Amino acid sequence: MIGDNEKGNLVDLRSDTVTRPSAGMRRAMAEAQVGDDVFGDDPTVNRLQAQAAELLGFEQGLLFPSGTQSNLAALMTHCGRGDEYLVGQQAHTYRFEAGGGAVLGSIQPQPIANRPDGTLDLAEVEAAIKPDDPHFARTRLLALENTIGGKVLKKEYLSEAVDLAKRRNLSTHLDGARIFNAAVKLGVSAKSLCEGFDSVSVCLSKGLGAPAGSLLLGNAEFIARAIRARKILGGGMRQAGILAAAGLYALEHNVGRLANDHANAERLARGLRDAGYDVEAPQTNMVFVKVPPGFADHLVNNEILVLSGPRLRLVTHLDVDAVAIERALVAVRSFREKAA
Ligand SMILES: *Cc1c(COP(=O)(O)O)cnc(C)c1O
Repeated sequence: MIGDNEKGNLVDLRSDTVTRPSAGMRRAMAEAQVGDDVFGDDPTVNRLQAQAAELLGFEQGLLFPSGTQSNLAALMTHCGRGDEYLVGQQAHTYRFEAGGGAVLGSIQPQPIANRPDGTLDLAEVEAAIKPDDPHFARTRLLALENTIGGKVLKKEYLSEAVDLAKRRNLSTHLDGARIFNAAVKLGVSAKSLCEGFDSVSVCLSKGLGAPAGSLLLGNAEFIARAIRARKILGGGMRQAGILAAAGLYALEHNVGRLANDHANAERLARGLRDAGYDVEAPQTNMVFVKVPPGFADHLVNNEILVLSGPRLRLVTHLDVDAVAIERALVAVRSFREKAA
């Protein structure tokens, strides 16, 4: 079992969700001023929500325990029973959230194939908008994701997508779980990537290193309704300032350093390619590589934690430094030699 801050020799590449709060973050959490956030009384939660809203260009923010809940509350705020949202086949809100929109919101997804670069073909998006006719669900929302599968959607594409949605009277939601990875990669502000969207959800618990928490951003009227959705979903927390303090610490200390994770992903991809593997060039902190049977088990046996599968996803984050990457590559090479 892995202890609190005891990482031993393990290199954990399963996800950037595995990061543990640093000593500085824990100190900020321990010292946080708190109140009952369901009454709106928690000063640290209020500060985080206001700061994130300002940072990303929205009127208000709302703290959630998880990104799944934040996305679901957004879907339920944009869409009512019998409404529909347009979404990528590979999108988290469609594929990895247990069908929550349908189960709890009576909202129908209309999935659209993601192209290899992660975008949706906007002609396909437009063609999927249903006419106003009682045979059809009412198409209400376009939901995008950035980054998606570690890939960055650029500003020009996002603007075109938002323009299309506005022209066709659709609301827009951005699942920006890793929006700061996209911003750091593109060398632009996260705010510029959120521009024009009606709502954005951002994870504090991935590469930013907080133990839990996501933020939903939108205008005041949207957030007022999202608070109701959060209540329905059981997500009101009390002295949540403990978590908000971690979020504030993460925004202050852990955004710029995402560039290190991207550099380490490059390093890892280069090593895998040099060892003869079929690797996709990483854009942010995820490396995808085709591997033979036995590869993942060999890595795990050598204290390199990965999720198994023929197309392995390896994720870099703040608990993985260049030395750890080299250790992972030693295990990669030893598998190669054993197989040869
Ligand atoms: C992780 C993730 C979420 C959900 O966040 P949780 O806090 O794990 O519920 C949503 N969208 C994307 C793209 C994610 O990667």
